[in-house]
Amino acid sequence: MDLLELALDRGLDISFIEEMPLGLIGDHDRGEAHYSSDAIRRDLAARFELMPTTESTGGPARYYRIPGQDTRIGFISPRSHDFCGDCNYVRVTAEGRLLLCLGQEHSVDLRRVLRAIPLDDEAVKRAIVAAMAVKPRGHDFDLSAQPLIFRHMNATGG
Ligand code: SF4
Repeated sequence: MDLLELALDRGLDISFIEEMPLGLIGDHDRGEAHYSSDAIRRDLAARFELMPTTESTGGPARYYRIPGQDTRIGFISPRSHDFCGDCNYVRVTAEGRLLLCLGQEHSVDLRRVLRAIPLDDEAVKRAIVAAMAVKPRGHDFDLSAQPLIFRHMNATGG
């Protein structure tokens, strides 16, 4: 509630993201801590009138608005509403590894391509395009099991 109030006060967009089971953690139980987008929306609806929109920013958020406000309220629901079918996301790590899915380890080593042919942008472009053929269809997240992915988000990059 307070976060949404803050976003409304300052005219900011805000998104609520369900925690993804990445990396080993010991300070809480992911299953118990899971707070689904539906539950967040239900709780926010006690104070705010949330209206669904068809707006998209090219990412996985589903947006809502409050009448008379500029703020977009996004919900990213990798657990409760798998959005992998629409996903066109890839990420580059600081080491030049092109990660093809947050929830899988499929990747391409772009640094190796760059170092092998340093002045050839086309080689990197070809490597990126070729990588799309092995982009996974989705994650295999399971909150009740040990994570399959030991990479924390701070090692993943944006
Ligand atoms: S396919 Fe992978 S990167 Fe895309 S939304 Fe699913 S988990 Fe995330």
